Amino acid sequence: MPVEAQACLAALASAFSGSAFLPGAETPARNLQDTSYLPPQMPLAVVRPDTPEGVAEAVRICAQHGVAVVPQGGLTGLAGGAHPIAGAVMLSLERLQGIEDIDPAASTLTVRAGTPLEVIQRAADDAGFFIPLDLGARGSCQIGGNLGTNAGGNRVIRYGMAREMVLGLEYVLPDGTLVTSLNKMIKNNAGYDLKQLFIGSEGTLGVITRAVLRMQPRPGCVNAALCGVDDYADVVSLLGAARRGLGPMLSAFEVMWADYWYEATTTVGVRSPLTGQHRFYVLVEAQGLSDEIDGPRFQGWIEAQFESGLVSDAAISQSMGDVAAFWATRDACSEFGSRLGPHVAFDIGLSAARMDDFAVACRAQLAERVPDAMSVYYGHIGDGNLHLVARSRSAETQPMSQISAAVYETVRDFGGTISAEHGIGLLKKPYLSYSRNPQELALMRRLKAALDPQSILNPGKVFDMRDMA
Ligand SMILES: Cc1cc2nc3c(=O)[nH]c(=O)nc-3n(C[C@H](O)[C@H](O)[C@H](O)COP(=O)(O)OP(=O)(O)OC[C@H]3O[C@@H](n4cnc5c(N)ncnc54)[C@H](O)[C@@H]3O)c2cc1C
Repeated sequence: MPVEAQACLAALASAFSGSAFLPGAETPARNLQDTSYLPPQMPLAVVRPDTPEGVAEAVRICAQHGVAVVPQGGLTGLAGGAHPIAGAVMLSLERLQGIEDIDPAASTLTVRAGTPLEVIQRAADDAGFFIPLDLGARGSCQIGGNLGTNAGGNRVIRYGMAREMVLGLEYVLPDGTLVTSLNKMIKNNAGYDLKQLFIGSEGTLGVITRAVLRMQPRPGCVNAALCGVDDYADVVSLLGAARRGLGPMLSAFEVMWADYWYEATTTVGVRSPLTGQHRFYVLVEAQGLSDEIDGPRFQGWIEAQFESGLVSDAAISQSMGDVAAFWATRDACSEFGSRLGPHVAFDIGLSAARMDDFAVACRAQLAERVPDAMSVYYGHIGDGNLHLVARSRSAETQPMSQISAAVYETVRDFGGTISAEHGIGLLKKPYLSYSRNPQELALMRRLKAALDPQSILNPGKVFDMRDMA
């Protein structure tokens, strides 16, 4: 082991006692990999501070010895951003938990970075408010990881991505400086909005320690419809009609292609709320204030879509149980890992109007390059975010790079983004230039070099400094 690494371990061991410091050989199994399913990697050590000052101290010690640091949250990330790096220290935020303040007048909640999202959602609900950020990994992911990835999820169409929910942020810079900026005001134009640099930078520029989140009023009612639509142009028209007719009530517009629907209702076995077969299945959700007023308004809107011919068939929710049953069709994808077999999952973004053209082109590319290829398409179409999973039915080991190249080259041809919400991490790093131009990439590199000249924080994630020289 290099002398500097040994000195770093000794300094960490004297600063952190008990389970707050674990040498590499004692790394808990969960810290050896994230949900990208890259092979497990033993780090130099794991540090688990329980205060923001402790996080700063850990980073400062590592920086003094030139040892890299990988911030780890709930480890549900799908791109490899929190995956260990050999010779680096894992900075686990799991003990930095707790809600510090709920301010009803400002509608804010101040929270420590290691707090699981679901705990935050419940605390807001108990206080009569609503945290709109929601994703399938809510029980395990942490708010620090959600902000580190600028997570999206199910209600972006109404409330925006994670960054739109943050008013204040505290973070540790790569040299160990703790910057506290726990602003609660919606309007604050006093200089640069620095927090935005750290949101979505996947732990490469700073380690988030606390955040002030903006809470929303708890919705008074939720209505949903699951619609069968037979032409993609009608899907796009329905999205426009939902935006105009439901206005700010529109909280989700999710589309599932027929290939997805087949796997969800047969392979996974979710009950279909519709009897007929369609080319597209659209889940429309609206959050309102009062069921007496907004329930009939929603019903009237969906009837108008029938009359105009955009919708061929629809099931309309009569209860929260129905809403949950509709969402079960969309959430079936979380079981693809165990039911469909090994596959590669994508979270691309492109113009909503061109998504079916993309699906056609992508299927063709996969058929050309991947033996016995299959792929299914679904996503948050109202947010311009399409998910797909692709695999070779016959290959013993999935040809990851052929599959990725076929999909990402098609994304590039369509002028889309290779990541709408999961981030770049390690898995998508080779394709970043498909979605960012040389000037954008050079600016990213300048920011990284300015804030982290030693490349202490999460080096080699998102981009390699040397590739961009
Ligand atoms: C079933 C399932 C469903 C999912 N659904 C969605 C979805 O709908 N939308 C979506 O966007 N994602 C989704 N994801 C992906 C994942 O849950 C999100 O990326 C989540 O935000 C990661 O949070 P985490 O705490 O697990 O972070 P980790 O996986 O631990 O880390 C992710 C990245 O953030 C960095 N990081 C972690 N903590 C900090 C911190 N305190 N400060 C700075 N950087 C930090 C890490 O270094 C890494 O680069 C899903 C994942 C699963 C398994």
